[in-house]
Order: sequence, then structure tokens, then C-alpha cells
Amino acid sequence: MKYTGMYCLRQWTLVFLGLLLCSRVGMAQQNAETMASAEAAMLEKIYNASLTDGAAYEWLRYLSTRIGGRLSGSVQAEQAITYTKKELEALGLDRVWLQPVMVPKWVRGKAEFAYIESTPGNTNNVPIRALGGSVATPVGGLKAGVVEVSGIEDLKSRDPEDIIGKIVFFNRPMDPTRINTFEAYSGCVDQRHSGAKEAGMLGAVGVIVRSMNLRLDDFPHTGSMSYGDLPVPQRIPAAAISTNGAELLSTTLKLNPDIKFYFAQSCRQLEDVESFNVIGEIKGSENPEKVIVVGGHLDSWDLGDGSHDDGAGCVQSMVVLRLLKKVGYTPKHTIRVVLFMNEENGLRGGRKYAEEVARKGEHHLLALESDAGGFSPRGFSFDCSPELLNQVLAWKPLFEPYLVHQFYAGGSGADIGPLKPNATVLAGLRPDSQRYFDYHHSDADTFEAVNRRELELGAAAMTSLVYLFDNNPPKALPPGSE
Ligand SMILES: [Zn+2]
Repeated sequence: MKYTGMYCLRQWTLVFLGLLLCSRVGMAQQNAETMASAEAAMLEKIYNASLTDGAAYEWLRYLSTRIGGRLSGSVQAEQAITYTKKELEALGLDRVWLQPVMVPKWVRGKAEFAYIESTPGNTNNVPIRALGGSVATPVGGLKAGVVEVSGIEDLKSRDPEDIIGKIVFFNRPMDPTRINTFEAYSGCVDQRHSGAKEAGMLGAVGVIVRSMNLRLDDFPHTGSMSYGDLPVPQRIPAAAISTNGAELLSTTLKLNPDIKFYFAQSCRQLEDVESFNVIGEIKGSENPEKVIVVGGHLDSWDLGDGSHDDGAGCVQSMVVLRLLKKVGYTPKHTIRVVLFMNEENGLRGGRKYAEEVARKGEHHLLALESDAGGFSPRGFSFDCSPELLNQVLAWKPLFEPYLVHQFYAGGSGADIGPLKPNATVLAGLRPDSQRYFDYHHSDADTFEAVNRRELELGAAAMTSLVYLFDNNPPKALPPGSE
């Protein structure tokens, strides 16, 4: 009996513990559900505020149509700094400041001019734009025979005798079979970046590069290039030709390999000048020493007005702080917006910001950049540990009503890359990429090319992600960051 009594007691104890556990599990489940529905409600508030009372589009209108292209060191870049600082101050943030940084100053000079000469006196003008960082042609321009190559590998395989004294024409197109157009861009941008260095070493006199554009049109797309440590005499002028121009040049060359190409450009590199990153923040109510940063780059190329690249990312990042205030959310961690200077031709702003973060020993829970155009947001890419990615993936259902569903491991953004040693998660907003390279770095990148709803939806998606990180900070912090 004694044994049976003990047995019964044990049984009842087990039943009791089981019930307790069930109720605890039930409560935990209920808590999780309550939390998820509170978070869903917050996302709805954020989206509604962005779509009914957004500021991104009007800020972008001013930046694009009243200021315009904002190349580092230009008057427009200075105006953009003053304007965005003033707008951030008007939001009533806890702190707004400018972070000084020295930036390179490259100027385009007079409008470029180019033609294909099929036979002496028989010419066809083609649109070109100097690549950023290029030297000028000799005064009066440069005329030479042309060697077409499909990339740097192809150039290196040629008989060096065929390159000396020629203009090298890099004509590798972006791969149209890539669904993510950024992959197509990465696949051939080396010819723009290093083509002149490689061709200069072989004795070429100039370089013409097919524009990084999947569409056939008449807009040349500029972009950064570098001579590396090539001696000055070997530095040859480099320009982008429009995709239609590239097709015409290639066809003409096939008909007659002895045609000549002429181009003239007067760009030059000046001394570095002082510029600034524009920074604003809301201090965290519980852990102000931990920072969540959102940003884009304030500089742009001088062609077009830099609306998609990256005016859109700047105003969306500013909106994150505005929206959190609008919906009455009090952040636990410090939420900071950084408008980085000089992404396009130097990355000095991104490096400077990361340098200061390291110097102060600040830790960033999340750094999120928007630098892929102001198109419909499709998701986010995350540069973090697999455990953290799993944590983030649990939020995916919250974004599904907003058609934001691509969460994947991948790169983040050029400006926040240098922050990696001091950040738990780096992330990039991933909008639809199909039209981005129609505009990127060209005269076509203007305010009219941005759709208001798409822009504000991107801002809402970013605000939602920032809110979720603030409300559920990553559990698996790297050692030493707690
Ligand atoms: Zn950009």
C-alpha cells in the first residue's frame, strides 16, 4: 500500500507538474501571439502613416529638382548637406550634427563629344560621358583606330602589338538572363572600373566602355574608374558610350575594322576638399549606448539629379526617424540616420563614420542601407550569422501583407560595409531591380523616374524592420558586444 500510495502521489505530482507546464507553455504561446499581433498592429500603423502622411517624396522633390546632382565636393553637395540637416532638425530629434570628412573633387568640365569616322569626313556622332576619375583627352580631342574586346580577360589575350596606339572598346553587355540585375552589373563592371588601367599598361591611348544598362537607349552611364598606381603617362582617358552607341560602333567595326573613333573630354581631378556626413538621432530610452543606424548616400553623380541613386535612400532613411515619432513609438536603443558623403567616387564618408564608431567603441545592433533605387520594396538582404538570420526570418510573416517577402543572406550596402567589425547585423533594402539600371548614373536618373507610393512603401518597410530590431534586439550577440 505504502508503495502504491507513493506511486499515486508521484502520479498526481506528475499530472500537476504537467498541467503547470502546459499552462506555462500555453501562456508563453499566448504571450508570443499577443506580441506578434501587437507587432502586426505597429507595422500597420507605420505603413498607414507612410502612405497617408509620408515625407519622403517631397524631400526627394527638393533634393532632386531644387538642388540636383550632388557630386562630392560640388556646390550641390554642400546645398544637400545644409538642406537635409535643416529638415532633420525640424523633426525634433535629440541630436543632429555634421561629421567632417575630406573628399576627392573631380569635375567633368565641358560637355563631352564623340563620333565614329567610317571613312574620312563620313562621321556619326555618338553619346559619351567621361567616367568619374578619368583624365581629359588632349586639347582638341583624340582620334585613333579601335579594338573591340569583350572584357579584361579578352584584352589580356590579345597580341599587345594590336593594342598600342588604339582606343580599346570594352563591349561586354550586362547578362540579361540574371533575374537580379545587380548580379548582371557585378558581372561586367570591372571593365568600367579597371579597363583604362589595364589598357593603359598595354599602350592603348583611350578607352570606351559600353554603359552598364540592360536597355538599348541613348544615355551614357558614368561611374567610378581607377588607374590604381599606374604612372601618370600611362593614364589614358576613359568614357562610357550609350548602349545604342555601343551597338553602332560594334556593327561599324564589323563592316570595317579600320574605322576611327574620336572623342574629347576636359574632366580633371582637383585637390581634396572638406565635406560632411549628415547625422541625426533619437536617443534610446533603455540602452542608448546601442545603436541602430539607417542610411543612404547623399552624394550622387553629376548626370541627372541622383533621384534613385541615392536621393531615394537618403529620404527613406530620414523618414524612418520621422515615422517612429509619428506612430508614437519610443525606441529602446538609439536610432540614428546617417547620410553618407562620397559613396560614388571614394567611400570616404562610410569609412569615416566606421572609423569614428570604432574609436568611440560604439556597438551597432543593426546597420540598414537603402541604395538600390526607390522602387517597390521586395525584401532585405542580411549580412550576419546563420542564427541571427533565423531570428530575422521569423518576422517574415509580418511583412507578407505588404508584399515584402525576400529575406536572404547577402551583401548590405557600400557605405555600411566598413562598419562590419562593430555591427551585429548589416542589412540592405532590396527593391525590385528590373528598372534600376535604366537610370543608374545617367541623365535619366531624375525625379520623374521615382514613383511616390513605391518610395514611401520602401520607407515603411525600413521603419518596420528597425522597429522589430529595436523591440526584439538580436539574442545571439557576438562575444564582447554585450
Ligand atoms: Zn548608390
